[in-house]
Amino acid sequence: MRAIDLEKLVRPNIQKLRPYSPARKEFSGEARIFLDANENSLGSPLPGNLNRYPDPLQISVKKALSRSIGLGVEEIFLGNGSDEAIDLLFRVFCEPRTDNIIICPPTYGMYEVSADINDVETRRVPLTDEFELDVAGTLKAVDEQTKIIFICSPNNPTGNVMRRDDVITLLESFDGLVVVDEAYIHFSGVDSILDALGSHRNLVVLQTFSKAWGLAGLRVGAAYADRLIVDLLNRVKPPYNLSSVAQRLILEALEKRAEVDSSIGRILEERERLVEALGSIGCVREIFRTDANFVLVKVTDADSTYEKLLTEGIVVRNRSMVEKCEGGLRITVGTREENDALILSIRGFGK
Ligand SMILES: *Cc1c(COP(=O)(O)O)cnc(C)c1O
Repeated sequence: MRAIDLEKLVRPNIQKLRPYSPARKEFSGEARIFLDANENSLGSPLPGNLNRYPDPLQISVKKALSRSIGLGVEEIFLGNGSDEAIDLLFRVFCEPRTDNIIICPPTYGMYEVSADINDVETRRVPLTDEFELDVAGTLKAVDEQTKIIFICSPNNPTGNVMRRDDVITLLESFDGLVVVDEAYIHFSGVDSILDALGSHRNLVVLQTFSKAWGLAGLRVGAAYADRLIVDLLNRVKPPYNLSSVAQRLILEALEKRAEVDSSIGRILEERERLVEALGSIGCVREIFRTDANFVLVKVTDADSTYEKLLTEGIVVRNRSMVEKCEGGLRITVGTREENDALILSIRGFGK
C-alpha cells in the first residue's frame, strides 16, 4: 500500500483542536440517575425518551451498519445527510483562501457551494463528451494545495457510473483525498468502491439514506473512510448531529433491507419503461445511459418543455444552463402513474 500522510493534509487548527466534550460523551455508560446534562428529568410531552440527549457517536446504528457493510465502527461517520459530511471535509482539510479542490462538471452542485461557503477555490475539470473522467486533465490540475478531488458515481445529473479503473488511477496518483459520492449506487448494479478502502487510505466514500432507502426526510448520510479521517470528522461535527429519532428509525430501516431491495427493483423496471417511452417522443433528442433513479434527456427546447410541464403540475429539473447539459432535463423515475402522466404530457406538446 502506498504510504499517504493523512495527518499532513489536515488544517493546522484542526490538528490542534481540543473538541467540545458533551455530557453524553464524558459519561456514556449505564447509571441509575443522570444529572449531568441539564435535561428535563420529569420527561417530555412526547413518548420515546426525547428528554434525553442522543448518543453523539451513534454507536448502535454504526454497529448495525458495520454488520451489513463489513467495515469497522471506527470507519463509519454519520451525518445530517451526506451534505454534512461534504461540508465537514472542507472544514477539516481545506484552509480557506489557500487550498483548492477539484470537481468534474457537470456534477452535483453542493461540492462547489460548500467550497464557496468555506472560501476554498474550486478547480473545474469537465467530464469528457461521454461523461467519463478526464484522468490526465484532473491530475494536471492538481498542485501542492489541492486537497480533495470530488467524484460523483453514479454522477448527478448525467446518471452514469464512473469507470472504476479511472477512480483507482486517481487514488493512486494523487496524495490528497478522493471523495467518491455514491448517493445513487444502489440503483446501479455496479459494486460500490468501498472494498478499495482497505488499500487506499485517501479514499472517502459517501452514501446516503435519502435516495434508494427512501428516507430523504430523516436526514442521514454516511462517510466511510480511514479511521483517522472519521475521527477528525467526529471532532468537528456538532456534538449531537443526529437526533435520537433519526437514530432509532435508521435502526428500524436497516431491518427492512428486503423491502428496500424490492422498491429498488420496481424503480429499475419503471426506469426502463420510462426510457423506452421517452425514446419514442419527437422532441426528445438524446437520452443518456443511466445507472441511477433519474434520467438526463436532451429535448429541442428545454425551457419551454420545462415550463409547459409546470403548467400541468409536473416538476422536473431543468439542467439546460449547465455546461455539457444544454437542452437537458433531469427526470426522476416516479411511480408508474406519475411516469405515465409525464409521458402523456410531453407527448402532447408535439415536436
Ligand atoms: C441527493 C444527493 C446527495 C444528498 O444527500 P443527503 O444525504 O440527502 O444530504 C448527495 N450527493 C448527491 C450526488 C446527491 O444527488
